[in-house]
This record gives sequence, C-alpha cells and structure tokens, in this order.
Amino acid sequence: MGPPGVGKGTQAKSLSRRLGLLHVSTGDILRVAVRDDAPLGRRARPYVESGRLVPDDLMGELIGERLARPDARGGFVLDGFPRTAEQVAALDGVLARLGLELDRVLLIVAPEAEIVRRLSGRRVCPSCGALFHVQSRPPRIEGVCDACGTALVQRADDREDVVRERLNVYERETLPVARAYRDRGLLLEVDGSGTPEEVFRRIREGLGVA
Ligand code: AMP
Repeated sequence: MGPPGVGKGTQAKSLSRRLGLLHVSTGDILRVAVRDDAPLGRRARPYVESGRLVPDDLMGELIGERLARPDARGGFVLDGFPRTAEQVAALDGVLARLGLELDRVLLIVAPEAEIVRRLSGRRVCPSCGALFHVQSRPPRIEGVCDACGTALVQRADDREDVVRERLNVYERETLPVARAYRDRGLLLEVDGSGTPEEVFRRIREGLGVA
C-alpha cells in the first residue's frame, strides 16, 4: 500500500521476484483491460482515467477470480489492493475460501512533493509494463522501452489534476485501511524516499528477507 507514485509497483515487482511469488497489480490488470477494450475495461475506464476508485463490487470480482487461478496457489504479492474497507472484507473472504492468510501489509510512505516529482516524470511501456523515470531511471534510448523496444507513454492518470484526485482518494479511502491493518498487527511501514534499491533494502530488512 501507499500513495500513487511512491514506488508500490517497482517494489512489488522486486519483492515478488525475490520471494518467487506471483505479482498481482490490480492497476496493471485494469490498464490492460482498458487498453484491450475488454468488458472489464469498458466498465473500469471512466474511473481509471479520472483517478477515482473502480467500484468495490467490480474489484471484488476481479480479485476473487485472479487469486483463484492455479498460479496464485503458492502465494502472491498484492500491489494496489485492497484500497477500501469493503475491499479488505472481500479479500478476507477470498483468502478464507482459499485457505490462505495474509502474512504482512507493507505501507510505503513519502513526502507529497517527492510523489508529485516522481509521477510527473514517470513513463511506462504500454506493451510490457516496464517502468522508467525521465530523471532517475531513464531508458537507454529516450522514449523507448529497454526491455521490448516499444515507445514509452505517460499514464493518462499521471496528469497533474488527476494526480491530485488520486492523492485525495488515497487519504480519504486507503489510509484508514492501513490503520485498520496496523490494529491487526500486520502493518510494516517503510520510508519510500531514496533510490528503489535503498527502499527495497529497507523492505527486506523489515520483512527479514535476505
Ligand atoms: P495504480 O496503478 O495502482 O495506481 O491504479 C491505477 C488506477 O486503477 C487507480 O487510480 C484506480 O482507478 C484503479 N484501481 C487500481 N486498483 C484499484 C483498487 N484496488 N480499487 C479501485 N480502483 C483501483
């Protein structure tokens, strides 16, 4: 968990790779569905593009389906889910059905000015999902994905007005979820400032992962 642009995606990818777990990013799933104009994407598009949360019933369905697939049986790192109290309840239900338990909840935090700087420079590969930043993680060739050669884009929801809405939604809906997990003794809060490598080191220390 964490505000938009704090590095959730980057860290979730590193952590899932290190632990050999499936990475499940609800944002990535939604963006692919929107790009492909899939039924899910058609319903989710207006929310994703304006920085609002996709309705909980749709998200509950999405996560229930995704986590029931065989590749999730060995465990997973959830990235960007749950974000509301209803989604916490939905996740608890899905996990109980699957006989799984949540081990830890990670909250990555950073000052707002740093978040805005990161989001405005963020570029993504629309084909393979690789992440870049014009200053701190530029691709080898400007505007081109290192991994697959596709032209990089700025996410539609990384525009300044949409970023402000996403930050509001985070504070209103998602911070209370983090507090609820703290009360359940599951929350690990990590300082998200510095390089991705520095943040990843803090996460590994906090989790006791080599
Ligand atoms: P993210 O890539 O995690 O920042 O997600 C991008 C956008 O996808 C969000 O601004 C929401 O519109 C939507 N989204 C992703 N995850 C969720 C979720 N758990 N609940 C509702 N909407 C979500």
